[in-house]
Amino acid sequence: METAEDVTRMHLVGGNLALDFVNTRTGPPVGPSDDDVLTGYPELVAWGVHAGALTEPEATALRRLSHTDPDGAHAAFSRALSTRDYLDEIFRPLAAGGAPSTAALARLRDDEADALGHAQLEVGSTFAWVWRDDQTLARPLRPVVHAAVQLLTAGALDRIKGCGGCRFLFHDESKNRSRRWCSMDDCGTAEKMRRYVAARRRRSEKA
Ligand SMILES: [Zn+2]
Repeated sequence: METAEDVTRMHLVGGNLALDFVNTRTGPPVGPSDDDVLTGYPELVAWGVHAGALTEPEATALRRLSHTDPDGAHAAFSRALSTRDYLDEIFRPLAAGGAPSTAALARLRDDEADALGHAQLEVGSTFAWVWRDDQTLARPLRPVVHAAVQLLTAGALDRIKGCGGCRFLFHDESKNRSRRWCSMDDCGTAEKMRRYVAARRRRSEKA
């Protein structure tokens, strides 16, 4: 059983909030996932804080709201999981050089319209969408959906990649676009170990 604590141990390697949201499911690069840190609405809120999508006061308000409206929280959590499914259906094909389904893109458009309907434009160095006054249970998903649209409309699509060792997706920000692993500490090290063992085996076979 996953807990909110597991959520806050997730490595944020996606370089984009929407990709990090997809990466809340773990497992091998192909085939079904084998683990999921999102097990309920409290974990969704904890992930939101961990990933920088929610402030701590916003999370406290959402936890309170989810206690007074458990059915609403359950529905918002189901919606979060189906959002993650269609984001996966958009970004996983793109990472493999393919095209996302039009059905998934239509769902993203609808959710983005809903998200912006609850947002305000706030000025910093430029204007940006913020969801400070959004007191709905869907609040954790708003910036996730918006990050997905930004990545699709303003990002470099060929920088969206899948890790060679696990199912994590990431936005490759390396200068020469050479990133292959979610993290050198995890899959990168596992790959280096695999190569080291194979090279040693070859040497001992020759000897
Ligand atoms: Zn990996």
